[in-house]
Amino acid sequence: MAKLNSNYDKLAAGYLFPEIARRAKAFASAHPSVKILRMGIGDTTEPLTPTIVKGLHERVDLLANRATYTGYGDSEGELPLREAIAADYATRGSTVNADEIFVSDGAKPDTGNIQTIFSEDAIVAVQDPAYPVYVDTNVIAGRAGNFDASRGLYERIVYMPCNEDNGFFPSVPSGKADIIYLCSPNNPTGNVATREQLTAFVAYARQHRAVILFDAAYRDYIKDPTLPRSIYEIEGARECAIEFYSFSKGAGFTGVRLGWCVIPKTLVLEDGDIGKTHRLWTRRQNTYFNGASNIVQAGALAALTPAGKAECQATIDYYMQNAALIRSTLQDLHIRCFGGDNAPYVWLKTPGNMKSWDFFDKLLSEAHVVGTPGSGFGPSGEGYFRLSSFGHRENIEAALQSVRQNLKL
Ligand code: PLP
Repeated sequence: MAKLNSNYDKLAAGYLFPEIARRAKAFASAHPSVKILRMGIGDTTEPLTPTIVKGLHERVDLLANRATYTGYGDSEGELPLREAIAADYATRGSTVNADEIFVSDGAKPDTGNIQTIFSEDAIVAVQDPAYPVYVDTNVIAGRAGNFDASRGLYERIVYMPCNEDNGFFPSVPSGKADIIYLCSPNNPTGNVATREQLTAFVAYARQHRAVILFDAAYRDYIKDPTLPRSIYEIEGARECAIEFYSFSKGAGFTGVRLGWCVIPKTLVLEDGDIGKTHRLWTRRQNTYFNGASNIVQAGALAALTPAGKAECQATIDYYMQNAALIRSTLQDLHIRCFGGDNAPYVWLKTPGNMKSWDFFDKLLSEAHVVGTPGSGFGPSGEGYFRLSSFGHRENIEAALQSVRQNLKL
């Protein structure tokens, strides 16, 4: 008899976004003449830039020719791309070698799969609220224990609350944690960790031989030059941190798909010799993955050229102008909001301390706007709500106008 992995039964609820879609669909069928305005999912909307499109086209043309056709590539990614990524780190003074970079089909697969190389009994710590992939993949792997519905958390996960009191960034765990997920700029709070805050986590990780899994998917949204864009800007991080990046939000690759993960060969873990984590991940990728699309890798290489970077920055600036509009609207309405200045997400405190899902229903029924309930990201997200700045300007403006006119505060 084939038995299924019973850990799936422990997943607390349906994934957040299907539930949002279900409620929005139910509202739309009950009110067919109403146009729903979406500020929920963090999906990009603006087109790929000319330099990227050219890079993609050129690679397609090479594949169309017998003399230049290529098939499987290295599962770690093509060397010119990995060298361009390493050079990009060097511009900020970080040392990352090309052979420490693993190109992938995105940061969701990488941040989800990485836990497979760690021991089953490792203690996992997450920022609370957090991108749901970190917790859910550890639930599936059997590391999270049972879900305690009364407290809205898993018994074996260490939750590091991020709230107004600590400026939405946690202190290091007071007890033991082996695998620590950090995301900066943060989804969902829009907070960016300072150099001092990351330095404290690097010190903790080195002291306890823990590993930091640093998700830098939104690093390109950081405008403030004093804020770190990579954990490797912190001294000692090469001993204790793995970093993830996604071309999704920086270059509009949410559908195109590409990301990377850095595993320094200098990483020191409790039981492994130096370099073992890198070897394990190489083995894992060679077993499960046959490399990212070569066409897409050419597009990513184009994105990392000076012209590509300048064009991508212009698109990011466009989204950040949306974020500024969202913030100013909320401020005018005296709704407390955070983030949105170095990150594409604005995190708001629900008016009158409403529960996140109650505010979701209110915003949808009164203003016809769909956002994301903070409680879907963890227990400390309760009473908060996320608005995304991804969207065409005219749609964002229409949504904000509807909030101003129709939301009853
Ligand atoms: N990491 C964070 C924090 C995200 O918010 C997202 C997407 O929303 C991802 C990773 C996913 O990245 P990708 O599209 O490369 O899989």
